[in-house]
Amino acid sequence: MACPACERLARLPDGFLIAGLRESFWILHKHQRYAGWSTLWLKDHAEHTGLLPRERAERLGLDVLDAAGAMHRAFDGEGVGGGPIRINYENLGNVVAHVHWHLIPRRASDPEPGATVWVRPVAETDCGVSDSERDRLVGLLKRSLGERGGQGARG
Ligand SMILES: [Zn+2]
Repeated sequence: MACPACERLARLPDGFLIAGLRESFWILHKHQRYAGWSTLWLKDHAEHTGLLPRERAERLGLDVLDAAGAMHRAFDGEGVGGGPIRINYENLGNVVAHVHWHLIPRRASDPEPGATVWVRPVAETDCGVSDSERDRLVGLLKRSLGERGGQGARG
C-alpha cells in the first residue's frame, strides 16, 4: 500500500521544506492557524518510532530538539501572539503511519491554550496558508536554525 508521506517526501523540495536534518525533513504544516506549526518526517519509511534502531532514534531526537530550539528563538523574538508559551511535541501516526513529529508553538492567545490543538474544530484549524506567509515562516525558521549552526542541517 502506498504511503502518502513517502509520496510527499519524494516530491521535495517544495515551498514548505524548512530543512533536511539528520534523519528527517522539517516541513511547515499546510495549515497555519498556529503560526509555525511544522512536522518532521523520517526520511524513509518506518511505521513505529519505538522500533527504530537506537542510533537512528537518537539522531531523530536531536532533529526534533534542533527544530524546537529554532522555533523558540524564531518566535520569542517575533512576538506573534506574545511568543510561544509552550511547544507541543506530538508523535502520533494514527492517520499517517510513517514516523513523524508535530511541533506546534502554543501561545496565550490560542483559543484553548490548555488543550491540544486537535480538540478545535477542523473548520477553524484547517485554514491553509498564503504563499507569502508560508515563505515568511519558512524563511524565519530556516534562519533561526542556521543561527545555532544547525548541526546536521543541510537545507
Ligand atoms: Zn512512508
